[in-house]
Amino acid sequence: MKIAILSRNKKLYSTRRLIEAADSRGHETRVIDTLKCYMDITSTKPAIYYKGDRLDGYDAVIPRIGASVTFYGMAVLRQFEMMGVYPANESVAIGRSRDKLRAQQLLARAGVGLPVTGFAHSPDDTKALIKLVGGAPLVIKLLEGTQGRGVVLAETYKAGESVIDAFKELNANFLVQEFVKEAGGADIRCFVIGGRVVSAMMRQAKEGEFRSNLHRGGTASVIKLTAKERATAVKAAKVMGLNVAGVDIVRGKEGPLVLEVNSSPGLEGIEQATEKDIAGMIIENIEKNAKPHRTRTRGKG
Ligand code: ADP
Ligand code: MG
Repeated sequence: MKIAILSRNKKLYSTRRLIEAADSRGHETRVIDTLKCYMDITSTKPAIYYKGDRLDGYDAVIPRIGASVTFYGMAVLRQFEMMGVYPANESVAIGRSRDKLRAQQLLARAGVGLPVTGFAHSPDDTKALIKLVGGAPLVIKLLEGTQGRGVVLAETYKAGESVIDAFKELNANFLVQEFVKEAGGADIRCFVIGGRVVSAMMRQAKEGEFRSNLHRGGTASVIKLTAKERATAVKAAKVMGLNVAGVDIVRGKEGPLVLEVNSSPGLEGIEQATEKDIAGMIIENIEKNAKPHRTRTRGKG
């Protein structure tokens, strides 16, 4: 197969591993720097150009779209979809997962366990909003934050009120969430490929930190999931429509609560913690499913 990898940097661990895994299975890959593509969207034959070439004959595309390039990256991916190229994750599914509010609403509708979450716009709802999530301590999250940036723990009511008011003043979109204390600064990253959890790790935040992101100094270890956790992760990925997903779960008092679903989950932490060939499994999943014009969410919002 001829596989395009949409990534801004071919030296990134995840990108390198995907190239390696595809190579070793006899596929041809090309890393396409998302922001350097340009597209012909007017013609009846949609096309993408890159470094003077017209990108033709690709069987599959693996989107590794960073949060900062979501808008343009999704447009490039849509263009691939219009050209009939099979996407490892579809643009619509990525869009759903990138917007934390939209993702939460979809997951809630499907009955997936979530921390109590509130969202508001007008400046005079702060008190009611804090009450809705059970008061302090509470977590405040920017809607498009990632890697733990933009997630704040307000330990007191006053702190919560100040942060919420400050975010409103900046016209930032954010949600307010119950702080799941019993998680103890740990969360579980479930790696889902093709409707199955293929690997999972527990991430523990460093001392004095509640965010367990590896980018924030968290440490990873292997973990055995309960059947409920496994089913929750699979369902969350399915609701988002993602073939490849990193579902983050915390252990709440009454069971698993989904924090977020990542559409370009990093491979480094999970491969190192679990010693599994996740990149290989992603390529295998593409081998199984790639057919021309297979985008299921075509024309959907
Ligand atoms: P990001 O997209 O920045 O990773 P997350 O929603 O995943 O944002 O939050 C980052 C980390 O903060 C999580 O991995 C988790 O450890 C911690 N965290 C987030 N929300 C909560 C919460 N409601 N209760 C307890 N811990 C949380
Ligand atoms: Mg996260």
